[in-house]
Amino acid sequence: MRPLRVLPEHRALPPGILPPGTDPAGAVVAALEARRRPLPARLVASALWPGEAAGWVPSPAIRASLLAHALALGAGLAAPQHWPGLAGLLLGNHALLGFGMRPRSALLGPNLTRLPPARDPLPRPVALTFDDGPDPAVTPRVLDLLDRHGARASFFVLGHLAERHPGLVREIRARGHSVENHTHAHPLSFGCWGPGAMRREIARAQAAIAAACGEAPRFFRPPAGIRNPLLDPVLWQAGLRLVTWTRRGYDTVCPRPERVIARLAAGLDAGDILVLHDRPSPRGTPALAVLPALLETFARRGLTAVSLRQAVPRDA
Ligand SMILES: [Zn+2]
Repeated sequence: MRPLRVLPEHRALPPGILPPGTDPAGAVVAALEARRRPLPARLVASALWPGEAAGWVPSPAIRASLLAHALALGAGLAAPQHWPGLAGLLLGNHALLGFGMRPRSALLGPNLTRLPPARDPLPRPVALTFDDGPDPAVTPRVLDLLDRHGARASFFVLGHLAERHPGLVREIRARGHSVENHTHAHPLSFGCWGPGAMRREIARAQAAIAAACGEAPRFFRPPAGIRNPLLDPVLWQAGLRLVTWTRRGYDTVCPRPERVIARLAAGLDAGDILVLHDRPSPRGTPALAVLPALLETFARRGLTAVSLRQAVPRDA
């Protein structure tokens, strides 16, 4: 295990705040939350990803976009008659950024859509993820089904639901699964937000989850997977890594479990990241009907359901 980097902020905490055996990141966040201080994102980042503290590196598309804006501004000021052409250039640039906002795109920064190659003997891992919970009517039944098949999973929970059902969040963690960040209130306009609003939304969920289970999330998934062109530096600062999926079942909009499982099982292979939802939807809860058949499919194909924390080392 890599050593935790100690910052001045850590030293300023009162003695005894990190008892032996406690997860340092979760303890720091929970302690700060208990003292009603605003969550300093840099503290979380340095505690979670000590190796990534060197600085945020923009993706080539972001660098090209920043350069295009600077050049257009300079050229527009020097030769105002060219503004219409320059505006067209910037419009094209924004269309490219919009293309990069698609859930599985890595144009705007790193995006985990498949598991990295396994380093230790995890036999043919596949990551099952659940979004939008925890829900008292659904999540316990999902946990029982996972237990029955010896499966591990990752739950991308909402901060406001973690505040309402902290016992469920603790239960998810206690049964060996990982709890990750899916924003505080699931705002569908998240893709259009500014960096400050995103930072507050993510930090609020981070604090709520850490306060519920004593461990801060390491992964983030935006609502509907729609990423924001300005999201990457915010995630770097919060010590989080973006995860979307290899394929999703559309279980919240499709009332027919057999169609959901057909989508998830088509081409299913080791390294895949799959998405279901542990919340009721107006069309019922197909995830509960799908899960037993899906877990049996894993067994037939020699796949092992693992959590993201099991499958993704911090430096992968
Ligand atoms: Zn969601």
